Amino acid sequence: MAEDIFFVAENRSGVMADVSFEIAGLAREIGEKSGKSYAGLLLGGGEVPALAEQLVVRGVSEVIGIQHEALAKYSFDGYCQALKQVIAERKPYLVLFASSSVGIDAAPRLAAMFHTGLASNCMNYTVEGGELFFERPGFNGKLRLRVKFAGQPPYFATIESGAFKQLPAGGAKGKVSLVSANLNPSEFRARLLEIVTPSKGGVDISKAPVVVAGGRGVGNKENFHLIFDLAKALGGEVGASRPVVDSGWVEYERQVGQSGKTVTPKLYVACGISGAIQHLVGMRGAQTIVAINKDPEAPIFNVAHYGIVGDLFEVIPPLIEEIKKMKG
Ligand SMILES: Cc1cc2nc3c(=O)[nH]c(=O)nc-3n(C[C@H](O)[C@H](O)[C@H](O)COP(=O)(O)OP(=O)(O)OC[C@H]3O[C@@H](n4cnc5c(N)ncnc54)[C@H](O)[C@@H]3O)c2cc1C
Repeated sequence: MAEDIFFVAENRSGVMADVSFEIAGLAREIGEKSGKSYAGLLLGGGEVPALAEQLVVRGVSEVIGIQHEALAKYSFDGYCQALKQVIAERKPYLVLFASSSVGIDAAPRLAAMFHTGLASNCMNYTVEGGELFFERPGFNGKLRLRVKFAGQPPYFATIESGAFKQLPAGGAKGKVSLVSANLNPSEFRARLLEIVTPSKGGVDISKAPVVVAGGRGVGNKENFHLIFDLAKALGGEVGASRPVVDSGWVEYERQVGQSGKTVTPKLYVACGISGAIQHLVGMRGAQTIVAINKDPEAPIFNVAHYGIVGDLFEVIPPLIEEIKKMKG
């Protein structure tokens, strides 16, 4: 069907990555707005049918499972050859990938194979007069670019994690179609030998109900105790923007954003953080966002539910005192 929107679900060693549900939700939304159907693609080995179930029970009408033992681990030759075969046959309009290590590796290769367009790191979209526009960061994140595809489909896009809501549970159960890929693993030019998980410092901010994050506005490592004190008072974890991590004020596990963690806590308090797009993608799914910044024009206020314009060194200490009083 030439009008399909495909999303490529991510099978991470037999576990469905959360971002798969985000791009599934996006595929459905774009489909509804542009009058197109949508379907999921899922690659892997014997685990594919069980994983595909996780999508169809959420109402994805069709998941095409591409099964081959050589797809049990990611390789660009395996994935791209398998996807090329299905895409050439089904001729979708658009194929969505997560902006993950798999998506940023495979999507541009496929776009090149089909001599067509790729919109990368997309964070928003509009459908106007039946035409699809994506928004993506440009010029090192300083500008937001609005792009549209030229030439003939299939078009390809990679989507930032955290930029879209997950496909909600429910809806009529869809079907899983299994297809096999014609692959010759001995011709693969690179093979994934092992996934080495970095050792964790014991902090997992992605699960914390409250995250108090500090940015460059905190000034230095010594001042960061203020952020730890506020997090402790609120019963939360400490997060940080990238320059803070790059400067060694806190460990990488605490970085929020495009190249760090995506967090969706009940409460996110951003202290001395400007609100660059790469930071926002990691936290704008929080239920309530409070921003403390001395610059009233700081972009963080565009996403904050509550904004405090002021010097964090004057705002945070009395805030901690008040919280302590409230807790008795
Ligand atoms: C490919 C790529 C990936 C990236 N990934 C990430 C990522 O994962 N996470 C991330 O955070 N960034 C990321 N960045 C960097 C991002 O573009 C920004 O540079 C960064 O988020 C800015 O951090 P900041 O807000 O702490 O610092 P700044 O932009 O310098 O902002 C500091 C803010 O503090 C305020 N301030 C200063 N003093 C005070 C005070 N006393 N009281 C109150 N407010 C004060 C200022 O008004 C300002 O708004 C990435 C960039 C690129 C290019």
